[in-house]
Amino acid sequence: MEFWFTEDQTKDLRIGCRILETIHSEITPYQKLAVINTAQFGRMLVLDNVIQTSIMDEFVYHEMITHVALNTHVNPKKVLIIGGGDGGVVREVVKHSEVEKIVHVEIDGKVIEAAKKYLPEISCALDNPKVEIIIDDGIKHVKEHKNTYDIIIIDSTDPVGPAEGLFSAEFYRSVAEALTEDGIFVAQTESPFFNADLITRIQKDVSLIFPITDLYLANVPTYPGGLWTFTIGSKKYDPRKVEIDKLPDLKTRFYSPAIHQSAFVLPPFVEDLLK
Ligand code: SAM
Repeated sequence: MEFWFTEDQTKDLRIGCRILETIHSEITPYQKLAVINTAQFGRMLVLDNVIQTSIMDEFVYHEMITHVALNTHVNPKKVLIIGGGDGGVVREVVKHSEVEKIVHVEIDGKVIEAAKKYLPEISCALDNPKVEIIIDDGIKHVKEHKNTYDIIIIDSTDPVGPAEGLFSAEFYRSVAEALTEDGIFVAQTESPFFNADLITRIQKDVSLIFPITDLYLANVPTYPGGLWTFTIGSKKYDPRKVEIDKLPDLKTRFYSPAIHQSAFVLPPFVEDLLK
């Protein structure tokens, strides 16, 4: 007998993965949560039937959403992560020894519990003494913390449900206020193939708030279309102008100084989204 998990990646496109085992499933106050073991991608975290991360390809996303901003800032001491309940971003931020404090604000504590139990490779740094976990809405947290963080990383679900507000202009204004005078934020901003209008709108909104606004790419096989965008807003430091020969030697599998540079080389159809 074969069992398959299918995700509607768009209303006209499905991805299917053969399931070896359903490890865990529950309904939390915020979403349906499952951890499944798939033949192709290994263990996977699924929320509301949408793949969040998999053991096979998580490193691409987690390294790319973290190290570009952290290596652009000259002295990041205090980092805020919004969402990211699987802990993958925390694990990557911990690699930067100059960071003194990591505040992790996740709305759904059940995601953290499940990641700790079933995805230890990803959640392994959540107990690091530099990490403070707060179960709360990231939108509320940024509103209540002005001039506090050097880096804000928004590792959210898709722009529906509790994450919808994490993609709004009003939220980006609060993010700018929560950042210190030379702060940087980065957010996952979906697929250039399937979410073109969203990306264009976000780039416009962010560019009205941040003097340096940019977009970079990485390939995440389990996400719709495979090619994924990250939007970065910076008050002072330009991510394209880092001195790559001075970057720290991080233990990474996708990110590298050369990838840092090449990620900003955009195909013309993506550049068009920024106009
Ligand atoms: N990398 C994944 C992706 O692109 O699909 C996202 C992974 S992470 C599990 C997303 C997390 O964002 C979820 O655990 C969800 O509970 C959390 N989240 C959604 N809205 C939030 C909000 N307003 N404040 C804080 N966390 C939120």
